[in-house]
Parts: sequence; C-alpha cells; structure tokens
Amino acid sequence: MAGRFAPSPTSDLHVGNLRTAVVSWLAARHAGVPHLIRVEDLDATRVKAAPEVATRQLADLAAIGVVPDGEVVWQSRRLDLYEAAVNRLPTYECYCTRREIAEAASAPHDDGHRPYPGTCRELSAAARAARRAERPPALRVDARGAVVTVRDRWAGEVTGTVDDFVVRRNDGAHAYNLAVVVDDLEQGVTQVVRGDDLLTSSPRQAWLARALGGTEPEYAHVGLVTNAVGARLAKRDGVVTLADLAGQGWTPGRVLSLIGNSLGLCEADEPVDLDALLARFDPALRPEVWVFPPAR
Ligand code: GLU
Repeated sequence: MAGRFAPSPTSDLHVGNLRTAVVSWLAARHAGVPHLIRVEDLDATRVKAAPEVATRQLADLAAIGVVPDGEVVWQSRRLDLYEAAVNRLPTYECYCTRREIAEAASAPHDDGHRPYPGTCRELSAAARAARRAERPPALRVDARGAVVTVRDRWAGEVTGTVDDFVVRRNDGAHAYNLAVVVDDLEQGVTQVVRGDDLLTSSPRQAWLARALGGTEPEYAHVGLVTNAVGARLAKRDGVVTLADLAGQGWTPGRVLSLIGNSLGLCEADEPVDLDALLARFDPALRPEVWVFPPAR
C-alpha cells in the first residue's frame, strides 16, 4: 500500500502543485503508508528539457520536505511494462486523424475530452489494410461503453461512461492513462491524491485497472489553486514557483507555512515542517480553493 505524487516534467512546479504534493504526503503518512514520487516523462521526446525540469521538481519537493520513500520511478524507463499491459487489454487499431474524430464525434465534455465515436471498431479487414497503408495506427481500448463509478474521498461517487480511449499513440508512445494505471498497480499505490483536473479521468482509469485484473486506488482530488481573478493558477501568473518566490525573499519554509495555512493547518507566518502539519491533519477535510497570492 502506498500513496504517490506523479509530476509531469513539463515546467517547474508552482505553489498549487506543491500544495497537492503536500496533501498527498500528509494523506499517506496519516494512513501509515509510504509516499512515492514518480516522474511522468513519457513525453520526454517532445519535452527536451524533461530530465533537467524533473531534477528541479524533485529538488523543490525536497525543499519543502516531500522526499520519496524509496527510489524515484521514471516512466521513460518502463516502456516494456506498458507494452506488456497493452497486450493484455481488449484493443483495436484506430487510423482516425484528429480532424476526422472532431467531425464524427459529439461535442467535447466539460473536461475537453471528446468521446471517440468508435469509427474504427468495426472496420472490415480490407478497409483496415487500406487505412494502415495511409498512416500508422493508434491503439484504443474496446471499452464497450462501460459505465464506471469511482469513489473520491471528498467528491463522493463519480460516474463516467468510458469511451474507447487511446492506450498507445500512433507515434508509438504509450498514453498517460495507461502508464499511470500500470504504474499505480505495479507500485502498490492504494491512494491517489492529485489535482481535480483529473477527476473526470478517474472512471476511465478505474476501468483500466479492473481490465488489468487490479483494483483502482482510493481517489482524493484536490481543488484548484486560482489567481486573483479566479482562473486556474498558471506559470504566466508571475511569481508562482519556489525559484520565483526565492527571488522575492521567500524561503521554502515560508512557502510551506503558506501552504499549511491554505489547508487550515497553521498560521501563514508560523514556522512549520511537514511533521507539524501532519499532527494537525484531518484526511476527511477537503482542501478549500486557494487564491494565490493570498490577499494581505
Ligand atoms: N502526471 C500528471 C500531471 O502532472 C498527474 C498524474 C496523476 O497524478 O495521476 O498532471
């Protein structure tokens, strides 16, 4: 049993990401299970600086006390595991371009995901061969419109219809949804604390976990951190990473106090460490939306 934090090394972590990492660590410690860190660098070929960014992310996490129990796992070194999982799933080849899907599919859902309309599921062998000659196929699961309900610690029951989502892209890269589920199963992850932008992906991932013969973890999706005008906090909001904040005289310790304060666990100027926050942590309490920087 374990918890984990799994950043993608696309850019430096901002205070919202760090806060999610803190909640993930606190939840694992509170449950008495190890807390792992996994670098989700499957897109490393597209993100050239991924190793450097990941190294900075790990250093920033360590600076606020979030050090992994055990070795950091890098997804880019586990491709065999993902391929083996793909081979155990019901899948079919899909030759559709983005454009074709957009034309055939219904409108995107709230989370921007456009359910795949199943165009390539029933192709004849001849049609398949013709299309394969045009472009390399992606691989989709054959989910048969499964309806899956998962439990989120704070949001309660979340139900979603699982569409035939991609598990291997047509450039050969394994998809995020696949890798995350394979890793969580393989690493014995039983609790997943992460940003609530992934809440709507959890029925899909639970379906995959079950299709691979496993059980999904307990989910706990942490609410957004927003900027002063209520939009999701992003790098472009200015001073949001530890490095940005250091430039304004903020130590990692002061940032941790702010994070603890946003969770209702300490005063904003109270010197704390993770163990002090843990002593006051109640896993049943949902972290509130945090506006950053906090008004003075
Ligand atoms: N790597 C994903 C991200 O940074 C998170 C995956 C997860 O926690 O399941 O958005």
